[in-house]
Amino acid sequence: MARLLLIEDDLTIRTPLIRALRERGHAVAAASTAMAGLRDALEDRPDLVVLDLGLPDLDGRELLRMLRAVSAVPVIVATARDDETEIVRVLDAGADDYVVKPFTAAQLDARARAVLRRAPGGGTPDPTLVVGGLRVDPRSRQVTLDGAQVELTPREFDLLHHLAARPGQVVTKRELLSEVWQIPYGGADKTVDVHLSWLRRKLGESAQEPRYLHTVRGVGVRLESPRATG
Ligand code: CA
Repeated sequence: MARLLLIEDDLTIRTPLIRALRERGHAVAAASTAMAGLRDALEDRPDLVVLDLGLPDLDGRELLRMLRAVSAVPVIVATARDDETEIVRVLDAGADDYVVKPFTAAQLDARARAVLRRAPGGGTPDPTLVVGGLRVDPRSRQVTLDGAQVELTPREFDLLHHLAARPGQVVTKRELLSEVWQIPYGGADKTVDVHLSWLRRKLGESAQEPRYLHTVRGVGVRLESPRATG
């Protein structure tokens, strides 16, 4: 099952395609103009975009370029033009694959699954990070510790995910500010300290008696399985 966004203005294509893709277990949203499609792609963050090249307000290739400037979402282009030059152009413009009209839902579904398998975090492998008894799942944004759910704010989740992706490594506060808070220069270290202390409390530990989160004085913080430190 994937969340697909179909950008297609032709109702005679769109309606049956939506139905067929839903029957195959996908969640399908649709847009009928390039600008609505661009907005939906950015706001709804689908797993994959199916993009018609002939749209009323903008050429699909232009939309592909705009989308590629701001997003890495996989894109399959649906083209009525079965011509080599056109296909090379859309692949060069950042499309992951293409289908030539008329195409069946079965073909599109197979190509979508193939593209998603190659996409980072799509299909396999499971992107869940496991450090000791801690499981951090970026898809559902859920965290469990020794099997029990831990309720985190979005920022705490991002902070924990960043650290859990680098187990055993010291991560500087500057890096956390820039990667998690997206504050490129300076910023207040206190922000990081405060969130780390909230995170510690939720994980049932403290700076004095750390289990997973170890402060490295003057440098940053390291997340490590308590089993690793013995
Ligand atoms: Ca069209």
